Amino acid sequence: MIETQVVIVGAGPAGLGCAALLKQMGIKGKDLIVLERGEIGESFLRWPESMRFITPSFPSNGYHQTDLNAITPDTSPAFNAGKEHLSGKEYAAYLKMVVKHYQIDVTVHTELNKVTSLGPSDGFELQTHNSHIRCQYLIWAGGEYQSPNTQSFTGADLCIHNTRIRSWEALDKGHYVVIGGYESGVDATFNLAKLGHKVTLLECSHDNEQTYDPSKVLSPYTAERMSCIANNTDIDFNGEFEVSAVFKEGDIFVVQSTDGDEIRTPFPPINCTGFEIDLGPVSEFFVYQDNGYPWVSAFDESTKLRNLFLAGPRLFHDPTLLCFIYKFRGRFAAPCSVIGSELELDMSILKHYRQAGMLLEDLSCCQQQECFC
Ligand SMILES: Cc1cc2nc3c(=O)[nH]c(=O)nc-3n(C[C@H](O)[C@H](O)[C@H](O)COP(=O)(O)OP(=O)(O)OC[C@H]3O[C@@H](n4cnc5c(N)ncnc54)[C@H](O)[C@@H]3O)c2cc1C
Repeated sequence: MIETQVVIVGAGPAGLGCAALLKQMGIKGKDLIVLERGEIGESFLRWPESMRFITPSFPSNGYHQTDLNAITPDTSPAFNAGKEHLSGKEYAAYLKMVVKHYQIDVTVHTELNKVTSLGPSDGFELQTHNSHIRCQYLIWAGGEYQSPNTQSFTGADLCIHNTRIRSWEALDKGHYVVIGGYESGVDATFNLAKLGHKVTLLECSHDNEQTYDPSKVLSPYTAERMSCIANNTDIDFNGEFEVSAVFKEGDIFVVQSTDGDEIRTPFPPINCTGFEIDLGPVSEFFVYQDNGYPWVSAFDESTKLRNLFLAGPRLFHDPTLLCFIYKFRGRFAAPCSVIGSELELDMSILKHYRQAGMLLEDLSCCQQQECFC
């Protein structure tokens, strides 16, 4: 039985961002463990090779404009990689440097399988494939990328989820159907068209929201890429095709809409409908909102169980979805300030986080976004 104070699950930007903050508050090495089922930055290592960050990176930290993809005020992926739109591998390399710099103890290739609550304020017993850990505080930062949405329509299992494609170059030449016209769908379409494939991109959202929040509309990076392929006659965009089912007729895949329209393709359709909300072994310790997101307190703590916190893109403080790094990093201080004050750590670093725009306390700032030109 390993005894520690804090366990963070997931060595992605959310888990490591919280870990780096606790280290800067002076938590002792033995009091913090990060568990990671794969490698540091595992989700990013699984990105298709050609995939790039849509949020630009820029090393502007010195002017209190922290690099949008940084997870601490004093690091910058742009500086590290010398690039504005990093690949998954480059971002994973940045995360490794953060681990090294802040001396974060990450136990890799260790999956958390089971969590038992020892009582309302008595902490948790955790079970991995080869260890038992007892801790007082648990931060779930297991992400979304490894839980693809494979239930959004009948026959979704016949499709290839875009997260399963490592390289677009490896696909046979022909006509592909891409389901889902948000960031991943456009990325798939762009890459397939660039390689000379014919693509039908299907989207059903009729939303024309008057907002520029990238959680709701395509990012400028993606819009710019879209404009590059706007005149490509090999791309057919159907914005009113709600997929109801995918099935096979012999060797051919048939994609059917709720209106009864059909599109045929010799290749499995590419499913770009996003991710499930899956909190793994802590799922049962949260209560869920009507939209599927877990309820959390003002400190991003479970409303059902004390000392269990959530970090990362599954944070939803109505109406604010904290799905990008530059958004959810503003909440690293929420669980860390509770843990820091209870463990009597030095909290003075939070002033630096506030100056760096990495301390988001008043979520109403996200409700009214206006752009005057
Ligand atoms: C195509 C695409 C492009 C994107 N572009 C951007 C962008 O430009 N800007 C931006 O801000 N965001 C972007 N995102 C979103 C961003 O990647 C995610 O929000 C971010 O990765 C979430 O970080 P995380 O640490 O919560 O999750 P992850 O990076 O997924 O980390 C979670 C970690 O937890 C581990 N884990 C899970 N379960 C367990 C378990 N039971 N035991 C042990 N370990 C476990 C996983 O292996 C993983 O390493 C993009 C996402 C996609 C899919």
